[in-house]
Amino acid sequence: MAGNGRRLFGKSEMRKIDAHAHVGEFGSWCGVAITAAEMAREMGLYGIERAIVSYPDNRVALDAQECFPGKLCALAWMNPTLPSAADEFRYLSGKGSVSGLKLHPLFNAYTANDECVFPLMEEAVLRDLPVFVHSGHPPFSLPWSIGQLAREFPKARVVMVHMGHGHGVYIQAAIDVARTLDNVWLENSGMPMHTKIAEAYRRVGSGRIFWGSDVPFHHYAVEILRTEVSGLDRVQLEDVFYWNIAKFMGWERQGGAPAA
Ligand SMILES: [Zn+2]
Repeated sequence: MAGNGRRLFGKSEMRKIDAHAHVGEFGSWCGVAITAAEMAREMGLYGIERAIVSYPDNRVALDAQECFPGKLCALAWMNPTLPSAADEFRYLSGKGSVSGLKLHPLFNAYTANDECVFPLMEEAVLRDLPVFVHSGHPPFSLPWSIGQLAREFPKARVVMVHMGHGHGVYIQAAIDVARTLDNVWLENSGMPMHTKIAEAYRRVGSGRIFWGSDVPFHHYAVEILRTEVSGLDRVQLEDVFYWNIAKFMGWERQGGAPAA
């Protein structure tokens, strides 16, 4: 991705943790890529102290984490339609090498609440690992299906990544689902409606919405600016950009994330 080194937006000095990003190359229709080193450099530019990263091949995210410990934190991206998924996730979570489970029902073609997901959810609950679920694309990753999964596993901590993504009805549904389920959190990358960030903060809960970039699919500058203009005040923005995800991941107990 292009980084010209100039800061073209407002409160860029605010501390940030990126709750959702990807390292690696996404081909086909996506045509986007970023290396761990490029990401670390860009994060420095935009004042992002940590990023939660994932990639379909877990070795890519784990390598990134190894190269930038404390800065890039890997999720285990599991495809529950594969028979080996549960064992693989048990192995990764048992080693303590991942910070959570990533599910992408659209990419891997299953509905979010399909029973094939259940063994992964059981392991996530057992290890108290959060579950990040891509949302916003029919028929696989709709907010209502993710809500059903969260209802099925009330002890699981479910993050609805993109909070409905690009469709207004799904965005509203993401807010409505999270309001009724206290084990659902929202992440706002790629979600176009800045107003819905403030609405989620007020209606779902001040601690229940995270900022994320979805780099390399989106640009840091755009994703930061949308949250900045959402209508939240400075203290509220600090919650969304930093404290909510820091507390959710247990990182604030470590004195916050390391300096960028
Ligand atoms: Zn993503």
